[in-house]
Amino acid sequence: MTNNIYFIANWKMYGGTSSLTSLNRLINLSKLKKYNNAKIIYFPPFTLIRDFVKKFSKTKISIGGQNCHHIKDYGPFTGSISPKMLKELGSRYVMLGHSENRISGESDYDINKKIRSALNKNLKIIFCIGETLKERRKKITHSVLKKQINRGLKGVKNCRDIVIAYEPVWSIGTGIIPQDKELQMNVKKIRKIILNRTKFKLPILYGGSVNNKNISTLKNISGINGFLIGSASQNTKKFIDIIKKTIN
Ligand code: PEP
Repeated sequence: MTNNIYFIANWKMYGGTSSLTSLNRLINLSKLKKYNNAKIIYFPPFTLIRDFVKKFSKTKISIGGQNCHHIKDYGPFTGSISPKMLKELGSRYVMLGHSENRISGESDYDINKKIRSALNKNLKIIFCIGETLKERRKKITHSVLKKQINRGLKGVKNCRDIVIAYEPVWSIGTGIIPQDKELQMNVKKIRKIILNRTKFKLPILYGGSVNNKNISTLKNISGINGFLIGSASQNTKKFIDIIKKTIN
């Protein structure tokens, strides 16, 4: 892997202020020249965004929100957070289309509205896509990915601030990762779909049960520009190990 290598930490609905001290070792690592091309982005729960921003203020580690509303400023939407609010907290990114939100009813249409609002507020997007086990069994993975990308990016003219995270739903939190050949083929397909939409070479990340053991295999898959890491990122020691094993 050359250029920037993304390491996205998705803390989901975990973590409290006491988790912050574990990040000191990561801060030290991120300052070493050897890891200059490691693009580390944390997605803590909303309640910790401000603490994370403060913690990482003298580093190049960025922060993002795990979701947002499609209304970009303010509105009568109880329990929601807008792109403007994320920005005000110091977030530079927002993660949209995560399967854990798609499962609870978020459609490609909703995701598209969110992407456009967030871009309007100058947030960068981690755009998650991926097929379910049922879709994989039906051998419709490529058409599912195409539909998710084309619907999600409909009307988006400037794709420069989009990062694609390919996350097979059947791999998230299961400990199962795709075979090299399958993953390589799907990433290649995603690259082709993207190239039909934009001249920008968007980063494509892999997510789904990445850990400090399987990273040695995953890092050799061509066409991947980094990883979206859920449970292993909540253990800073394992997260550091993943970064070290990728950039060695
Ligand atoms: C995720 O949260 O998107 C994810 C990939 O989780 P895990 O690494 O735990 O499978």
